[in-house]
Amino acid sequence: MFAITKPDVQKLFNILEIQRPSGSQSEEDWVTNNLLSIPTARMDAYGNVFVAVSMDKSNTMFSCHTDTVHPKPHADFKNKLVIDPMTNHLFTDHKSQLGADDGTGIWFMLAMIDAKVPGLYAFHRDEEVGGLGSDESAKINKEYLASFNLERCIAFDRHYYEDVITHQGTRCASDTFAQALSDQLNITPGFKFKPCDSGVFTDSANYTHMIPECTNLSVGYWSQHTIKETQDVGFAEKLLDRLLQINWESLPTVRDVTDNDSPFDEFDFMYDKFNMDMLDLCEQHPAIIAEILEDYGVGVSELQELVDEKLDLITTPMADDQPLDHWYMPPWNGYK
Ligand SMILES: [Zn+2]
Repeated sequence: MFAITKPDVQKLFNILEIQRPSGSQSEEDWVTNNLLSIPTARMDAYGNVFVAVSMDKSNTMFSCHTDTVHPKPHADFKNKLVIDPMTNHLFTDHKSQLGADDGTGIWFMLAMIDAKVPGLYAFHRDEEVGGLGSDESAKINKEYLASFNLERCIAFDRHYYEDVITHQGTRCASDTFAQALSDQLNITPGFKFKPCDSGVFTDSANYTHMIPECTNLSVGYWSQHTIKETQDVGFAEKLLDRLLQINWESLPTVRDVTDNDSPFDEFDFMYDKFNMDMLDLCEQHPAIIAEILEDYGVGVSELQELVDEKLDLITTPMADDQPLDHWYMPPWNGYK
């Protein structure tokens, strides 16, 4: 359908080298230099960037996020990338997160824009701190988005190899749509995409009340948010090649925007919601929260220990004598 050139993997490496924690200068600079330089780019009041390509031929939105989970502030915002030539798996020197979540999604979207695949490309801010960019976008860009009669929103922000997400807490896409997209993806030999109802939050979830089919696709990273994060580069290349050929406009639209059925019980859903509200509150009033904790007799050293315990789970490097392949093999049979 479009002129296919081999995916430029160096561009992926360039994206993954830069740590872009939400609200950091490095993210700001990266967005300015790499997105706002696209002639048709439009930034909303929050900082989300949209690129519209031939929207007279499209009712499709694509979504990724520009922020990464790296700590901020950081003295050196560059990741040291390591690739295993045997498996084509990419990771870092194990001192920082790779940021394939969601650098890989960014890479796909920039390549699709280059190839002039029609669609509205949404580069969201602050996904990693509660989906704040897309949440705001759904409010302030209501009319702008409505003008495109969007029928589907496809996010590229999911681990592993097989998922076409139908639920992010509640239903976001119909099974019919997810199966049709899986079928188109599985034209690539070896791909085993299928509808999956156990998705977690990403930006497309914030548009389910206005766009009928909102999904999220596996892009071949895993152990995201940890220093063990790994990207299967070979898989990403093949997936990008497929994304350039899919006829997005032919996908069926079945879900009604009011359909929010949930595969989980009410308690789980309420629990997730509670956590999101808690995070919001802590971010809005850190000084007052600290005072309340003190009032309740929680000491700094005690709290520090609890924080360290949690951080250990995501930042402790493994011992040097541990074989490396323990790190970069997918936790299941993987993609062949
Ligand atoms: Zn992500």
